Amino acid sequence: MTFDELLAFDKQHIWHPYSSLTNPLATYPVESASGVRIRLMDGRELIDGMASWWSVIHGYAHPVLIDAIQQQAAKLSHVMFGGLTHEPAVQLARTLVEITPDPLDLVFFADSGSVSVEVAMKMAIQYYYAIGRKEKQGFLTIRSGYHGDVFHCMSVCDPVNGMHHIFKGILPEYLFADRPECGFYDEWDELDFLSFQKLIEKHHPSLCAVILEPIVQGAGGMRFYHPQYLCKVRELCDRYDLLLIADEIATGFGRSGKLFACEHARIVPDLLCVGKALTGGYMTLAAVLAGGRIGEFISQGDPGVFMHGPTFMANPLACAVANASVRLLLESEWQKNVLALEKGLKLGLAPCRDLESVADVRVLGGVGVVEMKEAVDMKRVQPAFVSKGVWVRPFAKLVYVMPPYCIEQEDLASLTTAICEVLAEEESR
Ligand SMILES: *Cc1c(COP(=O)(O)O)cnc(C)c1O
Repeated sequence: MTFDELLAFDKQHIWHPYSSLTNPLATYPVESASGVRIRLMDGRELIDGMASWWSVIHGYAHPVLIDAIQQQAAKLSHVMFGGLTHEPAVQLARTLVEITPDPLDLVFFADSGSVSVEVAMKMAIQYYYAIGRKEKQGFLTIRSGYHGDVFHCMSVCDPVNGMHHIFKGILPEYLFADRPECGFYDEWDELDFLSFQKLIEKHHPSLCAVILEPIVQGAGGMRFYHPQYLCKVRELCDRYDLLLIADEIATGFGRSGKLFACEHARIVPDLLCVGKALTGGYMTLAAVLAGGRIGEFISQGDPGVFMHGPTFMANPLACAVANASVRLLLESEWQKNVLALEKGLKLGLAPCRDLESVADVRVLGGVGVVEMKEAVDMKRVQPAFVSKGVWVRPFAKLVYVMPPYCIEQEDLASLTTAICEVLAEEESR
């Protein structure tokens, strides 16, 4: 297939994420990728700023990860998980239990982040159902969150960003506290917690869980909030008998500078969702970790089983590459690498602060964000990034990067320089 044929068919027949078929943005055919470089079919190479949406933490075409998939493919690519088990799943569950705090010692494998969030929400409902508190079915979350695109996930995504009005009447309606305003580096302000506190005090008898992204709110606004907020959430969940679901699908495996972002607040959730970087971005896989108590109650109550079982649950290929990826991470100097990334992003993005069109520049761990005052014009900005040899995919007002941890300082500087230049060119248009 020629380059033109491929693009023409793609344009006519294929949906891309959040895309219009009648007014599409440019789509760039990728030939291959290696390290932090994405190679386009026309021969151009782009330095990857996105890690394919938080997931490719070790870079592309890593020999250890390729080997893990190839070896596993030759042995057992897939087998149903009902009534059967296998070493890749057991090994991965053991690792996940080991690297997460007590009492998280049960693992439910899912095939995508959204499904894992759905599963965690079902677990919370089924837990209270099992202990005879059937009225506890509601959820409380915070604005500016993102938890995935299927219905229950959407219902706890930010109601404005998440376009709840389109699905009004069929989307479950849950409670939203004001988004945290106190930033990660700000001085803590008790008032920031007032909205959350009022909602939980008033509604806790009908609530089964709080769900949120710890510290880093991803696709819902790319915001970093104060650890004290999370401490208070944990405290009130205990006081009012609610489970706390931490959605670490974006933050897990070191991205925020800690292995899990909950560690910034030294709290332990009751249910923990991981995904994205779990496999190093090589396969789709996610998991929910739960405390043993939750598993026991669900298993002893009616109907005596947890009601979920994806066809590709614990896919051996995905588990094998996840095992290899987590091992690579833990054996690497990831804290040092993420810290270097944080320093490079802070330094490299700082010049954006001088731009009139920029509202805020913020960096935490391996995440760098330039928030604009107005939404960027993707029809101009996207080709501008590509022509400067970087892959950055802004949305609305947010120009953000979360590169693979293995990026060299020189490539990181090229990436941040390109961001500063493109935004300056936009401003002076
Ligand atoms: C990406 C993401 C999800 C959804 O994961 P998918 O694999 O896209 O279904 C859920 N929560 C958070 C915080 C995410 O970043």
